[in-house]
Amino acid sequence: QKNSMRLEFLSKSINEGFARVAVASFISILDPTIDTLADIKTAVSEAVTNSIIHGYGHEDGKVIIECTIENSDIEIKVMDEGNGIKNIELAMEPLYTSRPDLERSGMGFTVMETFMDELKVESEYEKGTCVVMRK
Ligand code: ATP
Ligand code: MG
Repeated sequence: QKNSMRLEFLSKSINEGFARVAVASFISILDPTIDTLADIKTAVSEAVTNSIIHGYGHEDGKVIIECTIENSDIEIKVMDEGNGIKNIELAMEPLYTSRPDLERSGMGFTVMETFMDELKVESEYEKGTCVVMRK
């Protein structure tokens, strides 16, 4: 059967670790392998960091995580109401970053794609971004 949780927190870098551990803790209900848990934590970190850095920058905003588990399927949504992405296709290309000045490597979406089974990015410029990941 289905189970879900919803988490909302301010877009502060210090909350990135909290988000990662909170999702891992919820997922633990499924008794996942250490590898699965590590993959999910990595992917969640990347998505949350993106919302904090690119979505809001220096402003405080809301980051929302929704996690649903059904049987052994896991769906994680990471959402923000920040800047949004103008060109999603370009943003998802490996090594593309809009912030080379921050020493970003442009690998976040590639990491999410690699560590999860499915990645979907929805975004509206100046409205916000929703990243949906499944495993
Ligand atoms: P890295 O993740 O390797 O530190 P990065 O964050 O720039 O570098 P990606 O995570 O792949 O690389 O993201 C690519 C680009 O997509 C970002 O540079 C940014 O322009 C845009 N982007 C990603 N997530 C968001 C978001 N939540 N809001 C606005 N823009 C985003
Ligand atoms: Mg990133």
